[in-house]
Amino acid sequence: MGLSAQKLQLKPSALGGCRMKKCGKKIPFLPRPIAFFGLALLPALLVAGESGWNTRWTSHFLIHQENTRSAKWIGAEMEKIFRCLRKELWTLSSWMDTEKVEVYLYKDRNSYLEGRFKPPAWSGGIVYNCGRRGAQWSLAVYEPFCPRTVAHELTHLYFASFFKRAPARIPLWLNEGLAEMMVEETAGRVKSSYRPHVNEPLPAAVFLKLKKIPDPDSVQDFYSQAHSVVRFLKKANSPFKFEKFCRQLRDGEDVERALFSAYGFGSAEQFEKTWKKWAAPSGSGK
Ligand SMILES: [Zn+2]
Repeated sequence: MGLSAQKLQLKPSALGGCRMKKCGKKIPFLPRPIAFFGLALLPALLVAGESGWNTRWTSHFLIHQENTRSAKWIGAEMEKIFRCLRKELWTLSSWMDTEKVEVYLYKDRNSYLEGRFKPPAWSGGIVYNCGRRGAQWSLAVYEPFCPRTVAHELTHLYFASFFKRAPARIPLWLNEGLAEMMVEETAGRVKSSYRPHVNEPLPAAVFLKLKKIPDPDSVQDFYSQAHSVVRFLKKANSPFKFEKFCRQLRDGEDVERALFSAYGFGSAEQFEKTWKKWAAPSGSGK
């Protein structure tokens, strides 16, 4: 079976803006977007080209490593990331406790691009869903292993599973904002008083409806605002409200109606006023 059964492919606009910070270097924006594809018959077995790989089992992952000399700590690092993600995502992805995600860790970017997933050249990782129980979800990334990238992309994976039947209903800001929030959470440096700095936020009525990032120069502003809005919705309110909000979106409500239903905000402007009050700098950071 080829790779044509793309049941879960998100809109390109919802993928193209994904960027990740490069590990270990102060390069603020290294685009490392991820692609989502659904495969009808993706076997949960290694194919011939991966027969020499190392495979490690952890509690929640089946990790295939092309570089057989890769450090063993990667499994422990994946579980550390998982434990942090679970705190925030379990109610949306309860299967995460019982089913393992298959992780394909290519030795480098070239090998990843030439691998069996045939990822788009622009992607920094790719998520597959084969639609069957057991090993339903796969994540392919490449070395050097970057915890920030894995946390970001795994968040997309678990969150997409909640919207499984309707991935196009995930607003861009919600998808990227949640992933960015989890990157910070897994880094372990976040205090409850933390407020992401947002430089010149867009009006909520515009921001909440964005299908793509307005222009390359506004990438940082978009991600900061998305992170702040999601952190406000998820951490400054009951988690049940966030779950209800997501369920409403999944069931076809538009963002403003879902905000009203879950949080009681009567309009985008009312939401914006409350969010800005919460987001205002108070002198405390991470
Ligand atoms: Zn992303």
